[in-house]
Amino acid sequence: MNAMPAAFFGHGTPMNALDTNRYTEAWRAFGEEVPRPRAILVVSAHWYTNASAVTAMAQPKTIHDFYGFPDDLFGIQYPAPGDPQLADEIADLVKPTCVGLDNDSWGIDHGTWSVLVHAFPKADIPVLQLSINALKPFDYHFELGMRLAPVREQGVLIVGSGNVVHNLRRVDWAKPDEGFDWAQAFDNEAADVVTTAPAEVVRLQGHELFSMAAPTPDHFIPLLYFAGLASAADESAHVLVDGYAMGSLSMTAYTLGCHQLSPRAGDASPPLPEVPADLTNV
Ligand code: ZN
Repeated sequence: MNAMPAAFFGHGTPMNALDTNRYTEAWRAFGEEVPRPRAILVVSAHWYTNASAVTAMAQPKTIHDFYGFPDDLFGIQYPAPGDPQLADEIADLVKPTCVGLDNDSWGIDHGTWSVLVHAFPKADIPVLQLSINALKPFDYHFELGMRLAPVREQGVLIVGSGNVVHNLRRVDWAKPDEGFDWAQAFDNEAADVVTTAPAEVVRLQGHELFSMAAPTPDHFIPLLYFAGLASAADESAHVLVDGYAMGSLSMTAYTLGCHQLSPRAGDASPPLPEVPADLTNV
């Protein structure tokens, strides 16, 4: 059995769950392309806590962890089952790294479901989330990503969901589909590293633009897990789709282990819908 593909998605704002644009179309194309996974393990920027844990409940709840967005978003449910057995296996696999089993605190957050509603709209494949331990250095996350590589051999799709560039203070609503020069420069550097030398991804923390691109590291860290998987694999990662939102968000997505998908001809990004002026926890 070939290893299941892996991916990193730039998820942008929760509005992408309701929107159709070239990013959501790329996520959808990815979901249609990959073999049906046994389960999906997601490292989401939005489960940023003080320990590494994996969701182990049979029926994870859909979490609406944002404020100030339209009511339609709060009505979204992603009722995928969990897989407690797989959670056990993952906790065993990564020892001596300690990954706890979460039976009742988390579930499926919007970093996960805003992407999966497009990539796997039936919500019939078990979904697990792996938390980001905010207390650990970048090396830890990269190495934990490497340790997860054998899970791909068992038919599990591993997904990182964040944004390579994510600076909410610099958001410019007048630039819905543009990126500032500094955002593009950092995103391009990250793309170069991830696709050619993923083992060096941790060095991006020392890049002169890092603190501008990732003033808080939560949305960047899922990329470290993906780079760990890419580093453990004997093939290169590819850019699935790239671009920018509101100047200071990179929407770049990467895949590993599947051939390059080309966006459909003529797919232009439609205008963003009305969004609140005050962004919180996106
Ligand atoms: Zn987010």
